[in-house]
Amino acid sequence: MQHSRRPFQITLAAAAVVAAGLGGGVLPTASGAEGGAEGSGGTVKQENPPSFEEFAATTHRDDKGLYIVNGDEALSDRAELRRYYDRMIADGGPAQDGSTSLVVNQGPSGDDLWTAAEAGNLSYCVSDAFGADKATVVDAMASGAGIWEAEASTIDFVHDPSADADCTTGNDDVLFSVEPTSDTSFIARAFFPSSSDYEMNVLVNPDSLVSSGWDPVNIMAHELGHTLGFRHEHTRPESGTCFEDSNWRPLTPYDSASIMHYPQCNGSSDDLTFSALDAEGVKEVY
Ligand SMILES: [Zn+2]
Repeated sequence: MQHSRRPFQITLAAAAVVAAGLGGGVLPTASGAEGGAEGSGGTVKQENPPSFEEFAATTHRDDKGLYIVNGDEALSDRAELRRYYDRMIADGGPAQDGSTSLVVNQGPSGDDLWTAAEAGNLSYCVSDAFGADKATVVDAMASGAGIWEAEASTIDFVHDPSADADCTTGNDDVLFSVEPTSDTSFIARAFFPSSSDYEMNVLVNPDSLVSSGWDPVNIMAHELGHTLGFRHEHTRPESGTCFEDSNWRPLTPYDSASIMHYPQCNGSSDDLTFSALDAEGVKEVY
């Protein structure tokens, strides 16, 4: 979940490639105060895509050293960033299959999802390092998790407070950690089921979480959507902007009001609420 950065758009041949992932994604505050009117015409078009070196140089790294693409998704190193870049260039543009709101990430062996057993114990800690903000984050995580859990009985996010004092990716008592960041370029960022163990954390800027204009519960629910394997809805061609790549499979018809759709990417909902089609989509795979 990112704000304040302008999308970087490139045009390849006849297909417009909107690369929220190239040079970082966007998610301005709900008020638009930081991002302005993104999403419609506020993008830069180029005839030639950037070289990998140019792309890498403009890609934001968070304070753990991970590369942030698509606004709030983390890649661990330069090799992974290269693969991401190559896929982006090879895709050449949005999939034009008119395919039939939620889209699931595609890993090497198909859908990037947890097994039923794994989904039933998605354990996490919330770092004590949040200090005075910890209670807010704990509550937002619990309520955000509850939104998904209410739709699919397979899914159970489990907070383990006994791990909060040592809440890092290195703590094997929990699947993932929720840690504070002072990085102000995003509100929060997450990971996918196929991410490496050392990538499995949700980083949250606590100041941004409470001041973005969006409900912290919806923000955390969006991030938890990624941890369940769901991609940004606005990568679908129907959005007409903010294309990321084609490594996804649609679960429902396009939903401009999805919780996974950035509002400023031609979204029809400005509050990141969970939609009816989000409920349909998660039920299909969990
Ligand atoms: Zn996101």
